[in-house]
Amino acid sequence: MSIIEQLAHIQSQIHCAEKQYHRAPGSVQLLAVSKQQSIEKIRAAIEVGQTCFGENYLQEALAKIAALQNSDLSAFQPIKWHFIGKIQSNKTQQMAKHFDWVHSVDRLHIAERLNAQRPQHLAPLNICIEINIHQENTKSGVELTALPALAHAISRLKQIRLRGLMAIPRPALDFKTQFETYQQVQKAQQMLCAQGLMLDTLSMGMSGDFIAAIAAGSTLVRVGSAIFGRR
Ligand SMILES: *Cc1c(COP(=O)(O)O)cnc(C)c1O
Repeated sequence: MSIIEQLAHIQSQIHCAEKQYHRAPGSVQLLAVSKQQSIEKIRAAIEVGQTCFGENYLQEALAKIAALQNSDLSAFQPIKWHFIGKIQSNKTQQMAKHFDWVHSVDRLHIAERLNAQRPQHLAPLNICIEINIHQENTKSGVELTALPALAHAISRLKQIRLRGLMAIPRPALDFKTQFETYQQVQKAQQMLCAQGLMLDTLSMGMSGDFIAAIAAGSTLVRVGSAIFGRR
């Protein structure tokens, strides 16, 4: 299938899952994860109306953002760039300048840098806190026990808008395991909302498990290979 067909297929799966799991129509956004994919493929997706793209590697992303800026595609919706990769603190400045969203914030130091480096003329940077859902030492993400303090501290930063939580669970093949893991993220979000934080985004679900993520309340699925093919 072509990228256009794959995109349409994923969109229809999202819409079916919204119906099946009693989610409001249109409540789940599709982030097309374009890391290690060519500019031509991204252009093909933009031409059929895809506006949100996720990137993991800063230098690669900056080259793509520059190449697609002010191109003949400006007739379409403005593109929103989401950083979803591992964050090195010496690279936050370019992130704060060129991205609309950063999903993988897991410590205050990074959020404070992004806040200080977000240009004043731009809207506040949208942030998700990445949580370490399996408590794995090797994984990035904040532990659930440390989440409330981090979330409240980030919510006070002026050039940052804390939107919600993000998680990358270890791959599981069965729906039940996928669902139960994502439900823990949803519960963490509900706890923060009960504490007064205004969060509207659950960034969860990838090519292999986005249906279960939607069942558990995802509002933004990050789908790469199911749209663009193998990397
Ligand atoms: C690569 C990546 C994705 C997309 O993964 P696919 O399995 O290709 O859909 C989603 N989220 C993050 C954080 C990624 O790094």
